[in-house]
Amino acid sequence: TTLADGLARGIDSATSTISETFFEPTLRLGVTGLSRAGKTVFITSLVANLMDRARMPGLVAQSEGRILTAFLQPQPDDTIPRFDYETHLAALTAREPHWPDSTRAVSELRLSLKVRPQGLLSGLQGPRTLHLDIIDYPGEWLLDLGLMDKSYAQWSEHMLDRMTHRPDPDGFLPMATTEAAEAKLDEPVAQRLAKAYTEAQNAARREGFSDCGPGRFLLPGDLAGSPVLTFAPLPPVSASRGALYREFERRFDAYKSRVVKPFFQDHFARLDRQIVLVDALGAIHAGPRAVEDLRRTLADILTAFRPGASSFLSQIFLGRRIDRILFAATKADHLHHTQHARLTAVMEALTRDARDRARFAGAETQALSLAALRATTEEIIAHEGRDLPCVRGTLLDTGKRAAFYPGELPEDPAHLLAPAREGASEWLGQDYSIMSFAPAPLTLKPGEGPPHIRLDRAAQFLIGDRL
Ligand code: GDP
Repeated sequence: TTLADGLARGIDSATSTISETFFEPTLRLGVTGLSRAGKTVFITSLVANLMDRARMPGLVAQSEGRILTAFLQPQPDDTIPRFDYETHLAALTAREPHWPDSTRAVSELRLSLKVRPQGLLSGLQGPRTLHLDIIDYPGEWLLDLGLMDKSYAQWSEHMLDRMTHRPDPDGFLPMATTEAAEAKLDEPVAQRLAKAYTEAQNAARREGFSDCGPGRFLLPGDLAGSPVLTFAPLPPVSASRGALYREFERRFDAYKSRVVKPFFQDHFARLDRQIVLVDALGAIHAGPRAVEDLRRTLADILTAFRPGASSFLSQIFLGRRIDRILFAATKADHLHHTQHARLTAVMEALTRDARDRARFAGAETQALSLAALRATTEEIIAHEGRDLPCVRGTLLDTGKRAAFYPGELPEDPAHLLAPAREGASEWLGQDYSIMSFAPAPLTLKPGEGPPHIRLDRAAQFLIGDRL
């Protein structure tokens, strides 16, 4: 009997796993983008709008009335921090709403959707449950993929070269040259170098450069202050390499094997779907250099979605793949809707190469413009004989409501991507710089999520086919 019991139990647990995967499928959705791209606001509003779906007509299963309920559940991964949905939603829906704290590390949230099946089967089968596991992580961490096939010397050369034209507030470059020459290993010196290097990377980020890093230097998560983040690029030392150089080289390798690799293995390689959020408007406003830099950085980030491109990735993906990728320009509520098509065209142009390659690797891709949380209303204002399409919102710093005309995006996105052309730096010049809006106070009717632009279309592309 013991044997039979054991067998029965074995079969039991086997069938429960099978039924879990057959009847309660999970979909792991990655949400990424560079810092301030809008990940936290996106996830918060997406989840709120999937739970209260009155504003989600573009989600087909919703318009067909097949989504019965959606509810939060404990996430499957016990060691990943939970996405702090309740706190973020409370910030956005407070009487005096404010923007939530941004993404600083990886986090996860499980939303389960109970759905009536489609078509013929609907009469025969009861409702199904789809578990949507949302994984939030900084896009900066994806950039680290580029480190995997670089040696410390190659990476140093690459970074030092980039830095010559970038801000260096603490004088990292001169320090690196003298210290490397000295080359003794002294922990305070190592820390000073790492700190000055990190300052320079952050300053470059603030100026609108995107390809700064390593990723954990910008967003350390729980690694702040650890040796694995206490290194910096050094110029090649001709004769015998000093102790400082050798130790930095060792830490660089440790960063790759202990930080980058586990992230890709444990999180990235398990994703089914991905949305890449991009603050294209911010870059356009910062000027042609920032746009070109964003384009290059996106191309770098997006090599991660082409497993064939890296032996490291093909190793960890083992035949699995992300089969849908959405590229979304965020904060579209800064523009009147008449300009959204142009913003989408910019987004398409920025990601063209990457999308072509991803498609080639078998993933379906799309580009769109969205606002996860709409903070403005639209109006037409007559000005000097012209009708200007404006947006009105509450300014973040003064709390005053005002209408703005942010300027016009070019009809042909090539104008933005070819900065040499005349006038290219003037897009979104005038009002855009002061357009920093606070979230609008919300009075939601029962069943309504926060107001958005095209969040339902994004959801349809990302999960619609599985509902
Ligand atoms: P993260 O770093 O990617 O997590 O970015 P957040 O989600 O924290 O967003 C960064 C900032 O962008 C927010 O604090 C807002 O100021 C702004 N933002 C994000 N989404 C929207 C949006 O849909 N509309 C508007 N007007 N601003 C947004």
